[in-house]
Amino acid sequence: MRPYILAESNWETIKDAEFELAVLPWGATEAHNFHLPYATDIIESDFIAAESAKIAWAKGAKVIVLPTIPFGVNTGQSDILLDMNLNPSTQFAILNDVLEVLNRQGIYKLLLFNSHGGNDFKPIVRELGLKFPKMFICISNWFQSIDKNLFFENSGDHADEMETSLLLYLKPSLVLSRDKWGDGREKKHKIKAFSEGWVWTERKWSEITEDTGVGDPRLASKEKGEKYFKAVTQKMSELIYEVSKADIQNLYE
Ligand SMILES: [Zn+2]
Repeated sequence: MRPYILAESNWETIKDAEFELAVLPWGATEAHNFHLPYATDIIESDFIAAESAKIAWAKGAKVIVLPTIPFGVNTGQSDILLDMNLNPSTQFAILNDVLEVLNRQGIYKLLLFNSHGGNDFKPIVRELGLKFPKMFICISNWFQSIDKNLFFENSGDHADEMETSLLLYLKPSLVLSRDKWGDGREKKHKIKAFSEGWVWTERKWSEITEDTGVGDPRLASKEKGEKYFKAVTQKMSELIYEVSKADIQNLYE
């Protein structure tokens, strides 16, 4: 039993425990190119949150990792079989209930440990922050915590070299053989402003990619995944430690 993982804990150990910070990993259930499992984002957040909490716990952080929410926002993939969509308004309702529990029980810090690009918690956290003024709520994207270019040759944002490397390291039995991997080529928008990044519209997934991947996975390896995993969990553990020890009445200098 890892004492910083709620799903593995029991009442015997929890009843007298004190926690400074709750971590809520949030994934998605969706196709990841031909070769990665639908639970890719869940697996990533499970492993990365647990390892990061382990390092922070060893340094003295009183952190508890809640079970990963398995569904994310997949509104752009409505025609991809069994991509499970959770609407932003449902995410609002879930977070509202989680915050109500934490707030009532005096655990005033929540770190959202996001694992899926379609999850956008900012407007939700702004609104819930007003409703729960005692709570310190922050949002993290582990996949933006360090520069991917230091570890991987090809960029991408879905089932790419990075995600394939991570899964080869974390769950190799769930990765199909290399001959099944699609090239993850993404079609760009005809209107240039969208590719420049300052105008946004939802990508219609089945029109921008043949294999559901965005980013060429073919240079992925277990070794790259291991190196990246260690770097990301180190960085995320520092965040967990700092937030857990922070005085939320005195955050600025
Ligand atoms: Zn993913």
